[in-house]
Amino acid sequence: MESQWARVCDRLREEIGEAAYQSWLKPMTVRDVSDGQVRISVPTRFMRDWVVAHYADRLGTLWNGEDPAVHTVDIFVQPERASQTIHAPSARPDARKAKPAAPNARDDEANHLGYRQDISAPLDQRFTFENFVVGKPNEFAYAAARRVAEATSVLFNPLFLYGGVGLGKTHLMHAIAWHIRKVDPSRTVIYLSAEKFMYRFIRALREQNTVDFKDQFRSVDVLMIDDVQFISGKDSTQEEFFHTFNALVDQGRQIVLSADKSPSDLEGMEERLKSRLNCGLVADIHATTYELRLGILQSKAEQMAADIPRKVMEFLAHKITVNVRELEGALNRIIAHAQLVGRDISLETTQEVLHDLLRANDRRVTIEEIQKRVASHFNIRISDMHSARRARSVARPRQVAMYLAKQLTSRSLPEIGRKFGGRDHTTVMHAVRKVDELREHDSAFAEDVELLRRMLEV
Ligand code: ADP
Ligand code: MG
Repeated sequence: MESQWARVCDRLREEIGEAAYQSWLKPMTVRDVSDGQVRISVPTRFMRDWVVAHYADRLGTLWNGEDPAVHTVDIFVQPERASQTIHAPSARPDARKAKPAAPNARDDEANHLGYRQDISAPLDQRFTFENFVVGKPNEFAYAAARRVAEATSVLFNPLFLYGGVGLGKTHLMHAIAWHIRKVDPSRTVIYLSAEKFMYRFIRALREQNTVDFKDQFRSVDVLMIDDVQFISGKDSTQEEFFHTFNALVDQGRQIVLSADKSPSDLEGMEERLKSRLNCGLVADIHATTYELRLGILQSKAEQMAADIPRKVMEFLAHKITVNVRELEGALNRIIAHAQLVGRDISLETTQEVLHDLLRANDRRVTIEEIQKRVASHFNIRISDMHSARRARSVARPRQVAMYLAKQLTSRSLPEIGRKFGGRDHTTVMHAVRKVDELREHDSAFAEDVELLRRMLEV
């Protein structure tokens, strides 16, 4: 058996080269030959998949040439330990100078981690499921991501996550990777941006190394590519992506993709690729709601052990509505500021520190929109917002509009006054106080105001 194995190895070494031999075949151990079957163990699952995909057939043929009774080769995973079995022979002396293509895969799993992390982008420590706050807008995407992370077989392929910027797509993908690496380190998970994927592909083309490129991706358990909208339009990359994608799906490997649009809306994406993407599970992450934003702020403040008044969090959740990334940025800024100047966080300091950010977020609702909405809600004319009429039927709605302008924009009191027919800032101040007072005593009125606020916020 030993001499047969040595001859098979020699032949293969000649065929595939020293580097590949060192990386992939040397770590194999023949465990036994019986009933026409050769049983070979490799130390990791990663290696098994690789060897099965690339060399199993050839091994079978070569062995059969040595011993016609052998008709199958079985390759299985067995972590290495001292035993009486036979390793593949070491490199021939004349080949010692050959540079291995990959780290010698024999050593242990750590090497493979290194190997695949070489392809995979680093994962953010904070992007775990535990740190992800779940709410209505993202509960479906979250549940789908969790299912994929916890599944032992492929459930839906691909999982396609999409949504606007800063809503948690990358966070969820990293969370999947962390989870899998934790529960089953032998599974190969690769996470990378579509840009990186493209870059690697183009480099491989230049170096005429596309076979290796394909092999790297085709031997993974879970492949995650972030922001695939960047692949659209690039024909050759798309082609490659499509083939890699199909190969992985056919082998029952899990694929997770993200984009800023749904598969059907991706421009410059080939039809057949679109329809393939649509075959899996498509989960979108919607824009945040006030409740989710508040939840995220609470969770982050807790993580950072920062003491932030409830009012400030509510204020931020109301004001910073674009995406979660901005919300986090705002929180970091007020915490940093408070630590720097050694003062507690208050509503005033928050407004001061975030002045520019709040202004930028204001662009979404203007005083004119507020006036229009409020006027139609109370059934008065828009012109009454500017008029001098003091009848309560118009004065009250006007006050509500001023109040909302103060709440929802970062305009100063004089600025607001000017927009309401050139009124004085004290009039605006009075309106704000009045509305606050009424809200406290009249719950129907409070509800009205809250409803208007919500409508204006979307
Ligand atoms: P995307 O990839 O969709 O542009 P990211 O995943 O990079 O967005 O998220 C932006 C930031 O917001 C990250 O710091 C992320 O941790 C955070 N984030 C987004 N959604 C949530 C959430 N539901 N819970 C906690 N943090 C979140
Ligand atoms: Mg992202």
